[in-house]
Amino acid sequence: MDSNTQPTQKSSTFEHFSDLPLSEQTAKAVRALNFEKLTPIQAQILPHTLANQDAIGQAQTGTGKTATFLITIIESLLKRPFADDEQRFLGEPRALILAPTRELAQQIFADCRELTRFGNLYNLCITGGADFDKQAKQLERRPLDILIGTPGRIIDWVNKGVLFLDRVEVFVLDEADRMLDMGFIPDIKRIVRHMPANTHRQSLLFSATFNTDVMNLAYRWLHNPTFVEIAPESKTNKAIEQRFYLLTEREKMAALREILSGDEVKKTIVFANRKDQVKRLYDNLRRQFEVTMLSGDVAQQKRERYLQRFKDGEVNILVATDVAGRGIHVDDVTHVVNFTLPEIPDDYVHRIGRTGRAGHTGVSISFVSENDAFNLPALEKHIDMKFKLSQFDFAKSESIAEQSSNQTDQSDFNENSASD
Ligand code: AMP
Repeated sequence: MDSNTQPTQKSSTFEHFSDLPLSEQTAKAVRALNFEKLTPIQAQILPHTLANQDAIGQAQTGTGKTATFLITIIESLLKRPFADDEQRFLGEPRALILAPTRELAQQIFADCRELTRFGNLYNLCITGGADFDKQAKQLERRPLDILIGTPGRIIDWVNKGVLFLDRVEVFVLDEADRMLDMGFIPDIKRIVRHMPANTHRQSLLFSATFNTDVMNLAYRWLHNPTFVEIAPESKTNKAIEQRFYLLTEREKMAALREILSGDEVKKTIVFANRKDQVKRLYDNLRRQFEVTMLSGDVAQQKRERYLQRFKDGEVNILVATDVAGRGIHVDDVTHVVNFTLPEIPDDYVHRIGRTGRAGHTGVSISFVSENDAFNLPALEKHIDMKFKLSQFDFAKSESIAEQSSNQTDQSDFNENSASD
C-alpha cells in the first residue's frame, strides 16, 4: 500500500456546488434539485474524482454518495465528447454502476435521470427480474452512456454477446460490503475482467463498512485511490430518536397497531427479518390500514409499483425485509419499526437510516422480545451505545383484547430461518 492509499480524512476548501468546476448542464440540474451546500462526502471526494482520480468512500446511504459518483461520471463523460465522425457501437456503455439490489439500482437510475435532465446522455438501468426482450430493445436503441445494474443481469448480457464492457471509462461499485454479504463477488470479478485495466479507467468504490475483504477488493480494482472516510461520531444519525420496547412476541402486533394509529406517525416502514414474517404482517395490517409490502417474494414489476405508491404517499405503511428495504430512498419517512431485531447489526443501521433523512428528524422503534434479546449485545457493540429498554404503554384497552385475538397469528414469528 503506498502512501496515497492510506485512509485519510481530507480537508476540503469546497463548500458549495458553485465552488466546483461543473458543466453548465450539471450545475443547472443541481440547482433544480435545490442542492446548494456539498455534503461532507461530496466536499471531500469530488475535488479528487473530478480530476479523474480513483476514490474509495466509506459512507452510508443518506450521505449524498449517489450524487457524488453520478456527478463524477457525468462530468467525466461530458469532458470527453465523441467527435461527430467517431464511430460508436451499440451495447458499449461508457460508465458502469453496480448496485447490490434492484431497488437501489432503480434509485440510482432515478437520481441519474435528475442529474442528466438538461443533457443528452443515454442511460439505462438493467436489473434482474425485468423482461429480457424489453432490455434488449433498450440496449439496441442508441449508443449507451451510463449503465446502472445488478451484477447477475449485467453478466447475463455480457455472456449473450449483447453488452460489451471494454469501453468503460468510469466504474462504480456501490455498497461493496453488501455485495460481499450477498455473494456477488464472483459475478463482479467476471464483470471486471471484461473492462479495461484499472489504470485505463476511473474507479470508485463505496461501502458503509470496511473489513479486510472489502479493502482487498478495493486495492485490486482501484488505482491509487484517495480514501475518504466520513467518520460519523456515531454510526447512527443523531436526528433519529431510537426507542426500544420490551414486548413478548404475542404483544408485538397489538403494540404495532397502536403505534401505527398514532397521530404523529405519518409514514412508516416496518421491518421484519424474514419474507414469511413480512407477508404475515402485511396480511394482518391490511385489515385495518392501507399498507404495502416489499420482499424478495414480490415480483419485480410489482415491487416498483408498490414502492412508488409508498413514495407518492398513496399508502403510508410499508412492510419490508432488509434486502428489499435496502434501496428505499424516501425522504419523508417519519417512523421505522423493527418488528424483529436484525441478526446482522449493520442491518439495524441501514433500517433506521430510512428515517431522519434530508434534514428531517425521525423515530425508530424496536421491539425486543425474548427472541430478539439475543441480537441486542452485538447491536449495542456495533453502534457503541447502550440501549434503554422501556415497557410499552398499552394505552388502549382494546389493543389488549386484540392482542389475545391475534395470538395465533403471532406464534411463528419467533422461528429462525434464512432471511430474504
Ligand atoms: P444518498 O446518500 O445518495 O442516498 O443521498 C441522500 C439524499 O440526499 C438524497 O435524497 C439526495 O437527493 C440528497 N442529497 C444529496 N446531495 C445533497 C446535497 N448536497 N444537498 C441536499 N441534498 C442532497
